[in-house]
Amino acid sequence: MVIVLSSQKKPLKHVAQKPSEFRQDLVTGDWVVIATGRARRPHAYAAGRPVVNDDIATCPFEDLVKSGNEKPVLTLKDKNGWTVLAVSNKYPALTHGNGTCPIEASQGLYRYMEGTGFHEVVILRDHYATLAELPASRIVPLIAVYRQRFSVLKKEPCINYISIFHNSGREAGATLTHPHSQLIALPVVPPDIARSIAGSDRYYLGEKKCVHCELLSYERKEKKRIVFENAHMIVMAPYASRSAFELRLFPKRHGPHFEEMTSGQEHAAAEALHAALWKLHKGLKNPAYNYFVHTAPTKGHQHDHYHWHIEIIPKTQIWAGFEIGTGIEISSIAPETAAAYLRSIK
Ligand SMILES: [Zn+2]
Ligand SMILES: [Zn+2]
Repeated sequence: MVIVLSSQKKPLKHVAQKPSEFRQDLVTGDWVVIATGRARRPHAYAAGRPVVNDDIATCPFEDLVKSGNEKPVLTLKDKNGWTVLAVSNKYPALTHGNGTCPIEASQGLYRYMEGTGFHEVVILRDHYATLAELPASRIVPLIAVYRQRFSVLKKEPCINYISIFHNSGREAGATLTHPHSQLIALPVVPPDIARSIAGSDRYYLGEKKCVHCELLSYERKEKKRIVFENAHMIVMAPYASRSAFELRLFPKRHGPHFEEMTSGQEHAAAEALHAALWKLHKGLKNPAYNYFVHTAPTKGHQHDHYHWHIEIIPKTQIWAGFEIGTGIEISSIAPETAAAYLRSIK
């Protein structure tokens, strides 16, 4: 796998946190994060199932908003007050380090490095609204905050990839029902992204075309797996779906960088994300889901053949022994059938 480490040494801002660290698998070369600072939620381990807090009275985001104790790193407002804000995660998976970029080091047989990075939470105003039920106009500021924070964090010298993701529902790993997304800025390019970029590059070397542009043009002719389309965006069920009702949202115009989308694309992306989430919500009766952005790494321009997109994975099934043991996922419905069903849902 590709691990890109920044060689620049400009210090990151220091924040007092319990340190976390990256550890490398000696065989695969993949990095994992050991984040003991997050163990400050001991109840999370109890009874083997995460406890989900859905009570507005004890929701930490309500408190945060009322007390003003934590200063948001970004607040978007409309005429009625704030709509979306971003704060540093109180229980970060990665901490800002001790003032230096992480350097790989040895521990006996193994490699490790400091868990340097940023972990932010992007919070929507309404405790009770599920993202799927919000109108597209309320998703526009959410995407705007993703882009603005991405643009700030990508300037940090030690950051090479920024993961934006949203968990909804217990089965998707959300321990708070108050709708929120997260950004984790990493010093390494994660293995899934590295693999996806390597595949795009390989296709470009052979065919001199972007693989995603090619598949979008094919899908638009075939029409079997398209679920939603507007002026700038397409939502489709991938041909090789990894789980039942998996969806991907692509910009029609080629572009490697999510944060560089135009304002027209931003509105279209909000509309398309709303359509996808609403169709899943109505069609599958409010399933838990994860969505995440796949975009080019933040350093260098060697990723011009990549095509950013959002992947939406409803929790329609649980990874069991075969999937975990082999990495081959079994989807129990043909993506063509899933797409036809979701197209019919208004
Ligand atoms: Zn809340
Ligand atoms: Zn493309």
